[in-house]
Amino acid sequence: MEIIRIPRIMQETSKRALLRGRTIGFVPTMGALHEGHMSLIRACRQENDITVVSIFVNPTQFGPHEDFEKYPRDPEGDINKLTDAGVDTLYLPDTASMYPEGFRTSVVVNGLSDKLCGAFRPGHFSGVATVVTKLLNIVMPTRAYFGQKDYQQSLIIKRLVSDLNIPVEIVTCPTVREHDGLAMSSRNQYLNPDERKAATAIYKCLSSAAEKIKSGEKNAVRIKELMNEILSSEPLIKEIQYASAYDPETLDELQRIDSKVLLAVAVKIGQTRLIDNILLEETGS
Ligand code: AMP
Repeated sequence: MEIIRIPRIMQETSKRALLRGRTIGFVPTMGALHEGHMSLIRACRQENDITVVSIFVNPTQFGPHEDFEKYPRDPEGDINKLTDAGVDTLYLPDTASMYPEGFRTSVVVNGLSDKLCGAFRPGHFSGVATVVTKLLNIVMPTRAYFGQKDYQQSLIIKRLVSDLNIPVEIVTCPTVREHDGLAMSSRNQYLNPDERKAATAIYKCLSSAAEKIKSGEKNAVRIKELMNEILSSEPLIKEIQYASAYDPETLDELQRIDSKVLLAVAVKIGQTRLIDNILLEETGS
């Protein structure tokens, strides 16, 4: 596996591959790789000639009191996993090469960036949108792969790619879960054993709400109440930031469930902020 650290060299490598008629698939990550990341890499390898993965813990998407400093980092373990998975190129830039002296531009996706996670993490999605725009311009992929686990992120990226005419297909892959339903996340490493047990309430809450909707519940207020009841019954969940039913396109909270619905949750367990969601595409009208 080739490791490239300089944006210009990554761009030139991609340009050469594209000129030879190769398709490039791209999986952007912040590292500390788990099965969720690996599932994106497998989908990417199946659908493209060349697979590029990036690892970059992007400082601009963390708030001043968030976990940028202690975010899990395991470059050696990650390189081994990527090599074993058959990845062609790892793009591993440092902060100075992504944000050189004088950097002043940011990408804001209005209307989507301030809802759900955006309401609790001001500036987060502008950091994400800016770094992903840069990564797409540097790697120049044919397709880029994102996880449904970060549904709002995926929606914002699809919007910016369309709005800014970036020639890439965005592919969203299903959430990979632990055996008890907890969505895999690099941040799960922060949880102590009691907190890890408490975290199962998140998937319980989402799947109970999904069942209720499938069995005919149309009242989104009752769904919200059910979700909040399940989460509140877990004493180690210190804060419920949001837990409700949303319109999957606008992210507005629903009153009534007619067709598609996004069930989404963000909670804090100890100091750890965890998110998860289920998208129901067909609920009947
Ligand atoms: P991260 O390293 O957390 O920024 O995630 C990199 C990519 O992996 C993003 O597109 C995430 O949505 C995706 N991802 C993270 N966790 C999962 C998971 N459990 N299942 C599927 N995709 C995931």
